[in-house]
Amino acid sequence: MYQKHLIFGLLIVLVFSCGKEENFIDPALQPYIERFLEEANKRGHTFSLDDVQAFLLPQVADEGIRICGLGYAPKFGDKVRRIDIDQLCWEFSNDAEREILVFHELGHALLDRTHNDWKLPNGRNRSIMFAGEFCDIYASYQDCQLELRDYYIDELFNEGILIPEWSKRQKIDRVFFTDDFSLGRLGWTSSTPSPTASTQLDTTQFFSPPAALQLSQTSSQKMTHTWSRTIALFPIKICSNITISTNIKTQSLGDGQLDILISYPSTNGEGITATCEHQFTVEETVATQKDFQYFEFTLRCVPGGKKDIEVQFALTTSQKSAVYLDDISMRLWD
Ligand SMILES: [Zn+2]
Repeated sequence: MYQKHLIFGLLIVLVFSCGKEENFIDPALQPYIERFLEEANKRGHTFSLDDVQAFLLPQVADEGIRICGLGYAPKFGDKVRRIDIDQLCWEFSNDAEREILVFHELGHALLDRTHNDWKLPNGRNRSIMFAGEFCDIYASYQDCQLELRDYYIDELFNEGILIPEWSKRQKIDRVFFTDDFSLGRLGWTSSTPSPTASTQLDTTQFFSPPAALQLSQTSSQKMTHTWSRTIALFPIKICSNITISTNIKTQSLGDGQLDILISYPSTNGEGITATCEHQFTVEETVATQKDFQYFEFTLRCVPGGKKDIEVQFALTTSQKSAVYLDDISMRLWD
C-alpha cells in the first residue's frame, strides 16, 4: 500500500514535470500571449508555446530590485523560455499597459531581443523593448493610440524598421479653434437639458469684452449638467499635440467641479476605430472666485487624419453656482 502510494506519487511528479510545469501559462496572461502570437502571425512569424512558461508572481525582482517583469531565454544563459510578471504591476495596469508588459517580456523570451533605449526624433521610445525605469515603457502607446500600436508591434517583430514619418518633427503651431463669445451666438448646446441648468452669454463678467459663457445651476441639489460642441479638425499628422486653453471664473462652486472632457476617434491601418478620451478637472480656488484664471491642457501624440473633436463641459455641483468661461482656444503643434 505504502509502495503503491509512493509509485503513484512519483507518477504524479513525473506527469507534472514533463507535462504541465514545462509549459505552464498563467490563465491571466494567456489572452495577451495569444494576442502576441496573432500579431506575430500577421507579420509572417509562427512560434510554438510548447516550451514556454508564463507566471504571474507575488513579486518579481532582478538583482534585489523589484520590477514589473522578467523574460528568460537560452540566448541570455537561461535554460527555459519564460516570462515572470509581477502581480501588483498587473493589477494596476490597463489593457494597453498589460499588453506592452507581456509583449516586452516575450520580446526577450521568444524573440531573443535585448533592450533598446533609443528615442525617436520626437522624443518617444523607439521600441517597447525600452529598458523602462519606473515602468515608462507604458508610455509607448495607450489603448486608443492604434496607429502608434501598429508601429510599436511592427518594430517588435522587425527591429530594423524605418523610423516612422509621424515621429519626425514638423514645424506646426497654429490655432485651429477660438471662441471669445463676441458673436452673440451660443455654440455650446446642453446635452442634459434641465430646468435647473442654464447657459447664456454673460456681459457682466468676462475676460475679454463683450461677453463670457456662463454655465449655471439654480438648484441646490447635487447634479451634473453637460454642454458640448463638435470641433472639426483638418487632416493632421499622426502624433501632433493639441493644447486647449481657456480662462475660467467660478461663483459659489464650493466642493463642486467643472470637468472638461475631450474625445476623438483613432483608426488603425486595418480600419479599426477606437475613441480617445481625456478629462481635465477645474476646482474652485480663492483665485478663481476672485477673477478669471488661465488654464491649459495638452493632449499629446493625437492620432492622425481628419477628425471631429468632441468637447464637453460637465458642471457638477450641489449648490446654486455658476462657472464663466472665456477665450477658449485650441492650438495644434508639433
Ligand atoms: Zn526588459
